[in-house]
Amino acid sequence: MEFGKVQYFERVETKHHREFIQAHNNCILCSSVLELRHIRTDEALEIKEEAYCPQCDLRTRAKNYTMN
Ligand SMILES: [Zn+2]
Repeated sequence: MEFGKVQYFERVETKHHREFIQAHNNCILCSSVLELRHIRTDEALEIKEEAYCPQCDLRTRAKNYTMN
């Protein structure tokens, strides 16, 4: 299930659609507003982004940004 959702976001190719999704961070299951979290590691080499739905109690997106 979670892999399918990740693919849904990554398949969005146009910048227009990408901006639309970022401006409307709602759960694709229940349309609740997602809580966005950005977690930086102690070494500051990686930033982790999560979109969390408090209604479904589910993470709907997780990305890792590595700067090394
Ligand atoms: Zn939800």
